[in-house]
Amino acid sequence: MERDASTLCLACGLCCSGSLFPMAQIDPGNDDERLESGFDTVEHDGKPFFRLGCHHLEGAHCRIYGEGRPRVCSGFNCALVLAYMSGRMEQEQAMELIGTAVQMDRAVRQALGTHSVSVTRNFEAVEDALQAKLAAENDPEVKRTIGQVLLDIIAFRMFAKRHFIPGSDDSPGMQVAPHGVTGS
Ligand code: SF4
Ligand code: SF4
Repeated sequence: MERDASTLCLACGLCCSGSLFPMAQIDPGNDDERLESGFDTVEHDGKPFFRLGCHHLEGAHCRIYGEGRPRVCSGFNCALVLAYMSGRMEQEQAMELIGTAVQMDRAVRQALGTHSVSVTRNFEAVEDALQAKLAAENDPEVKRTIGQVLLDIIAFRMFAKRHFIPGSDDSPGMQVAPHGVTGS
């Protein structure tokens, strides 16, 4: 029986929140109607993307899940989903890794509020904003706390790279994987 990754994705949502990727690739022609629901689009290297975190994400759930998400959303599979779908990882281990990643992500986003950095932004933008704050800050204690959040983001990124980012992914954003397994 084919495995279903929806339990994993419904506990996660990290590929939509901007924590893993700053943007997701648009499929021109197929996504035009879907993009009418207010996606923040941007061009990168001549290709169209929409910015993450996605405004349709609520907790770990997609508000337009049943109404036609952009193609990248239904076609993307993170490394963890791929491992689970292929039988290389059991659900219990996958859920444990998701739990750890979600906890790390939450801790970073909670800390961002104390530094007046928007928690809805993607981690790449957040890191830039924190670096700018660090450079402008004179108070050693505030510098220390900003530095700690930056270290926490780096730790999250290393964890995400190991367990979630597809190995061959050298794209600047989330892309449809070259296989037909349904993910988030
Ligand atoms: S595809 Fe991976 S990163 Fe995205 S929601 Fe599912 S488990 Fe999380
Ligand atoms: S699955 Fe939904 S919440 Fe996630 S990026 Fe796509 S439209 Fe946004």
